[in-house]
Amino acid sequence: MKYDIVIIGSGLGGLECGYILSKKGLKVCVLERANLLGGCLQSFHRGNCLFDTGFHYVGGLDEGQSLNRLFKYFNLMNLDWVKMDNNFDDVCIDGKIYPFVSGHENFRETLSSYFPHQKENLKKYTDFLQNVGINTFDSFKPHSKNNFYSSSLFAQSAHEFLNSTITDPILRDVLAGTSLKMELSEQLPLYVFTQINDSFIQSAWRLQGGGFQIAESLANSIIEMGGEVRKNAAVTRLIETNGRITSVEINNNEYIDCDWVISNAHPIHTLSLIPEESILRKVYRNRINRMENTFGVFTANIKLKSGSIKYKNKNLYAYQNADLWKYTEGKTDRALVNFYRPQNGDSCDCLDILTPMNWSEVEAWSDKPIGKRGEDYVAMKNRKTSECIKLVSHYIPELEEAVERAYTSTPLSYKNYTNTANGSAYGIRKDFNSPMLTILPPKTPIPNLLMTGQNLNLHGILGVSMTSFFTCAEIVGMDTLIKDLNINE
Ligand SMILES: Cc1cc2nc3c(=O)[nH]c(=O)nc-3n(C[C@H](O)[C@H](O)[C@H](O)COP(=O)(O)OP(=O)(O)OC[C@H]3O[C@@H](n4cnc5c(N)ncnc54)[C@H](O)[C@@H]3O)c2cc1C
Repeated sequence: MKYDIVIIGSGLGGLECGYILSKKGLKVCVLERANLLGGCLQSFHRGNCLFDTGFHYVGGLDEGQSLNRLFKYFNLMNLDWVKMDNNFDDVCIDGKIYPFVSGHENFRETLSSYFPHQKENLKKYTDFLQNVGINTFDSFKPHSKNNFYSSSLFAQSAHEFLNSTITDPILRDVLAGTSLKMELSEQLPLYVFTQINDSFIQSAWRLQGGGFQIAESLANSIIEMGGEVRKNAAVTRLIETNGRITSVEINNNEYIDCDWVISNAHPIHTLSLIPEESILRKVYRNRINRMENTFGVFTANIKLKSGSIKYKNKNLYAYQNADLWKYTEGKTDRALVNFYRPQNGDSCDCLDILTPMNWSEVEAWSDKPIGKRGEDYVAMKNRKTSECIKLVSHYIPELEEAVERAYTSTPLSYKNYTNTANGSAYGIRKDFNSPMLTILPPKTPIPNLLMTGQNLNLHGILGVSMTSFFTCAEIVGMDTLIKDLNINE
């Protein structure tokens, strides 16, 4: 069997590329190594709770907003999206709680009531973010001054922007405070910070019933359009003939031919699939292999005692004595709490606590199989869980008593389940000092091998969805995709 396109990986990026190209009439085959589709969109059951792994909430799904347009295209707006409260996030720093409120004007008015002397600066801040959001689709246009790949915001520092816009250091921390959904570091490009923060200020949404439904819906659409989506199909080698990939090896024993390959897998892994003697020059390989990755995440998925905690239709970001822009290895001074919406009533049955964790904190156990990593690994996870609960208890005092059971995952789990390098949560670390070296285009030196997904330029549901179009544009052209998205409207 020969396909027009073979896609390695069924993460959001792989499935969206499969959808776009199937819609264009191409014959697509998506190959996923795991026995579940979705990569970071996977959900799992424990103790009557359905927990999400990566994805927890999205921004910009209201009519006319950025993700809404993309999700309409992908036929994902018919899923059970639930709008979060107007006060969608609480940033809790050293005992004080600051609400994040939807809508740019409401957002700045609310925070101005806590920081009246920063009212003007908050206007500058929200105007700047709003402008980036407004230009989201202009960035798709190859000749626009806002074109994504020539955006100067990748070469500017988010940290520096906050310092120069906001003069109150506490407000600076508050504005950066919902940013566990990225890695805050002094290298962070302004584009990543503003695009992600802006989309959540537009409006914030949870998906009732688990993130896996996004993957399921995209996969079903691909199949309906004549494509194929296979699980337990690890790509083990890319076979090159005369400078092009002509065939893909699956599970070391099966081969399929194709005209194009799109890899949704981590770029380091993608290159490991190409034999050393290929046309790929060593300098390119070395460049990719040397790229750093963001931190990973430790998650405590918690089942709560019945009736012990009220459901909150918002997230809570908790910090105690933290330097927000610098994660110190081993220190549990920051966490995101995500509440799962109950089927009935107002009592919360389960929640997640997420906190950063580096690969070096788990590397000692990386060669041991799942479930056999030993008592010291279990002890480390138990200690971390207690620290997370203690941190969050500053803001939810009833939590310590309410925990019935905690299930945990570490960067080792992400490495196992999504094959991401070093269990990294958000993939390759982008650096405003060297955007040309840390932001990858979809094209590779092999003309019919493209890449997609969070590692290229912008992580998260919005970023990966945008990137899917940039990747597919290399095959079908951006003009036709711009028409399909009605971007000129
Ligand atoms: C803890 C956490 C919380 C997050 N929360 C949010 C959130 O609330 N909102 C938001 O917008 N974003 C969030 N994100 C980010 C978002 O989930 C990711 O950016 C996005 O889902 C990544 O998609 P992807 O397609 O790039 O890659 P992935 O999801 O990593 O998918 C890659 C896929 O490729 C497969 N693969 C790898 N190698 C092979 C091979 N050889 N053969 C076949 N298949 C292969 C993997 O198994 C995997 O399925 C979160 C991420 C994490 C980790």
